[in-house]
Amino acid sequence: MKTIIEPFRIKVVEPIRMTTRQEREQALREAGFNVFLLKAEDVLIDLLTDSGTGAMSSEQWAGMMRGDESYAGARSFFRFQQRLRDITGFEHILPTHQGRASERILFEIVGGPGKVVPNNNHFDTTRANVEHSGAEAVDLVIDEGKDPKSRHPFKGNLDPKKLDALFKDVGAHRIPVVMVTVTNNSGGGQPVSLQNLRDVRALCDRYDTPMFLDACRFAENAFFIKKREPGQGDRSVSAIVRDMFDLAHGATISAKKDGIVNIGGVLLFRDEELNRQARNLLILTEGFPTYGGLAGRDLEAMAQGFEEVLHEDYLTYRIRSVEYLGEKLLERGIQIVEPPGGHAIYIDAASFCPHIPPGQFPGQALVCALFRHAGIRTVEIGSVMFGRGDRPADMELVRLAIPRRVYTQSHIDYVLEAIVEVYAERDRIRGVRIVDEPPALRHFTARFEEL
Ligand SMILES: *Cc1c(COP(=O)(O)O)cnc(C)c1O
Repeated sequence: MKTIIEPFRIKVVEPIRMTTRQEREQALREAGFNVFLLKAEDVLIDLLTDSGTGAMSSEQWAGMMRGDESYAGARSFFRFQQRLRDITGFEHILPTHQGRASERILFEIVGGPGKVVPNNNHFDTTRANVEHSGAEAVDLVIDEGKDPKSRHPFKGNLDPKKLDALFKDVGAHRIPVVMVTVTNNSGGGQPVSLQNLRDVRALCDRYDTPMFLDACRFAENAFFIKKREPGQGDRSVSAIVRDMFDLAHGATISAKKDGIVNIGGVLLFRDEELNRQARNLLILTEGFPTYGGLAGRDLEAMAQGFEEVLHEDYLTYRIRSVEYLGEKLLERGIQIVEPPGGHAIYIDAASFCPHIPPGQFPGQALVCALFRHAGIRTVEIGSVMFGRGDRPADMELVRLAIPRRVYTQSHIDYVLEAIVEVYAERDRIRGVRIVDEPPALRHFTARFEEL
């Protein structure tokens, strides 16, 4: 049989609201053409992010009731800690309220002025936290990773030659840690191979520098390794996940992705001293180390979510559903970042709207067009998010992130039809300009005007 079905049935439903074009037009204007500023109620299909938007399972909800809300030493913490130890092999496990809290603590310890932090591609919050510490964030993804048409199976790979050159150029003493993001969110949700992790680790060893994973989508990355990397096809996803973590000295995780929870994060270390420093900062801003800014029930949900995400039926359905959307768009002549990523499809807005120059933000313009036409909320990953002054981003992308276990096949088909309709009238999409922007992470709150 060729239909891959959702490997669950639906127990609770949440209605979504149809709107008229006129209502959407007004909502868009009130939001300053920034979909982050829309009311979620006005959105029909919300593909803004896969972060914290997943549907929890009946076992996770049952865990919520079992949550031990003791301030210190809660049973739920030990269950969470044990699950993370089992999956990753790490000794030191700190809960945080989400990924950026882990990043903030890590870079407060290892960052600072004069430091340089390489990554395949820094995610926006990672870059912001590196820069906030005074350090410089450098992206070293392989060249194929910047070519939307390249079908390289591991386009998230960090280029070891570029990393070696950086070590030689700035000196290892200025590089406190090498990050590798799995899967590479800003680069199209593309996976990193085990071989690449081994190569990067070997270089790190040569320069006596620790390697850290930004492991938000570790399970999706491992599934791609199983499907694409020679010699990995017969291994379990769990075994591959363990190999990935075995190569790292530490990791930051947003559990809102592959933890399949609405809130939560993790910070992992092998080094006792780093863990001690991080734990002290955690107490300062997040909470006592056995809850780290979360409720006991959140720790229970995470412990269960990190287990369910490794189920191969789930991963098969998950990756296929994203791939289906991507392949159908390609069939209609719409360029996406190929091959389809793990959690999202990234439309190449530059080729979708060739009449809009980067300075007029073709990605943001397309985001507005999709909302206006069909009530679909997506996000720009281009020059609004990563441009600096007059310098545009490497790519002008629009990301359609697919929440975990939330939408069915017919929702995906609706999205597909809507994009095809917008594509047919793409000449009418207008560029935008920024009328108000904050100093950092401007995409969240900037306001725009249509040109
Ligand atoms: C989501 C994400 C983060 C930040 O996590 P939050 O939970 O949103 O703070 C960091 N890195 C990557 C790759 C992510 O996808």
